Amino acid sequence: MTVPPHRKSSYDAIVIGGGPAGSAYAHTLRRRGHSVLLLERTRFPRFHIGESLLTGVADTLEHMGLLHRVAAQGFPVKTGVELTGDDGSHRRIAFADMGDDFRDSTFHVERADFDKILLDAAAEAGAEVVENAQVSAPLMNGDRVAGVRYKVGGSTYEAPASFVADASGRAGVLARRFGLRKSKDELRMAAVFKHFGGLDEKFNPGTEGDIQLCNHKDGWVWAIPIRKDVISVGAVTPQRTLRSAPTPEDLFNEHVNRIPRVRERITGTEVVRELTGETDYSYHADRIVGPGFFLLGDAACFTDPIFSGGLFLALISGIRAAEQTSKIISGREEEAEAQEYFANFYKTGFETYHRLIRAFYDNDYVITNYMQDLFAAGMHPRWVARTLNGDFWSKDNVLVNAMRSEERWKLFEDFEPVYRPLFRADD
Ligand SMILES: Cc1cc2nc3c(=O)[nH]c(=O)nc-3n(C[C@H](O)[C@H](O)[C@H](O)COP(=O)(O)OP(=O)(O)OC[C@H]3O[C@@H](n4cnc5c(N)ncnc54)[C@H](O)[C@@H]3O)c2cc1C
Repeated sequence: MTVPPHRKSSYDAIVIGGGPAGSAYAHTLRRRGHSVLLLERTRFPRFHIGESLLTGVADTLEHMGLLHRVAAQGFPVKTGVELTGDDGSHRRIAFADMGDDFRDSTFHVERADFDKILLDAAAEAGAEVVENAQVSAPLMNGDRVAGVRYKVGGSTYEAPASFVADASGRAGVLARRFGLRKSKDELRMAAVFKHFGGLDEKFNPGTEGDIQLCNHKDGWVWAIPIRKDVISVGAVTPQRTLRSAPTPEDLFNEHVNRIPRVRERITGTEVVRELTGETDYSYHADRIVGPGFFLLGDAACFTDPIFSGGLFLALISGIRAAEQTSKIISGREEEAEAQEYFANFYKTGFETYHRLIRAFYDNDYVITNYMQDLFAAGMHPRWVARTLNGDFWSKDNVLVNAMRSEERWKLFEDFEPVYRPLFRADD
């Protein structure tokens, strides 16, 4: 073995993956004074899909002291969501409708730059970051995860740690190794997407900066401006529909062309990132903690991205898992108790988000169909705006509570929900 790229003989925690979940975990744990090694398979900046942020992400970035850095990038400001369809009908949900105590804007981002800001912040906080480092397996001490084995170039190294946080995204190093991943048959979807340059928002028939979420009979389409002059457009459809199309390119063009208000918005643009795709749309793990490990973000659970919850869940899971790790290492809480709190917290938020996705899919890709009875019963629009922005841990949201009462959308085995404000003074 050559000299390892990591410097210490042992760490308080090792993080697998430097995406938003891993960076947030490393940043938070370092700021509590613990030693952290973060191993990332690629070299940043790297492309990633998932570009529209909830206002809860802006709250989270502010909590991390990073909002000003993201704002300084000049990313498009998002103040609302346009729901539209193939008949040109449309409806806007403005974040200002959430109420006085809520932020009324957030951003859409180019992930390569956004993710690098987060990873750099973790390194600046003192985390040791090694890029081009691929974790291949956990080191085990009996049934306890006690570190990782990883490769850089042609060499393999071992690094021990008290905890391993798996933030490897859809790769899911630990969940796959331990056979924890389950998938649901209802959401066998696939996405194909491109970036278009030369965007001029004067052609946007709606409000500049809005995400467009567009339904049609075979799925949905997104349009998200990620730079002043670049827009990300994607088509999501059942995997079988994609397979039956002559080519993915044909399907993409045909589905996007069905949506008049997206067609209008991308007038005069040209492709700057060719077609890419993602499948494997929905999975979860009932066990997201165990002796010596935490699963974070997409490495734990993933559900259809229609309502842009992924980054919010990734960041907040990273922060909350690091808070709990710190309590264990500093002897303030027992491991089992601290981990259970994290698992219950994460499941409360993730399952709420998943139920919102199910409400969309079970109502012919039209989320407002699910809300009709609730509106008829007097539901205030603020509950819709809040739900679409990550109000996943509150106890008093009328829409969220209605969705939580639907037995058919239960995802996890029974757990004790955690309802709480996103951040408290003692966090
Ligand atoms: C089509 C699509 C559209 C989406 N749209 C949105 C959206 O609009 N808004 C939103 O909020 N979310 C969206 N998402 C979801 C969002 O992209 C994810 O939820 C988010 O990236 C999760 O962050 P993460 O840190 O958990 O994982 P990732 O961002 O995937 O980061 C994981 C990191 O781990 C690294 N890694 C993997 N394996 C290893 C290994 N063995 N060793 C070391 N490193 C490793 C990877 O290189 C990567 O950098 C979308 C997802 C899809 C598929």
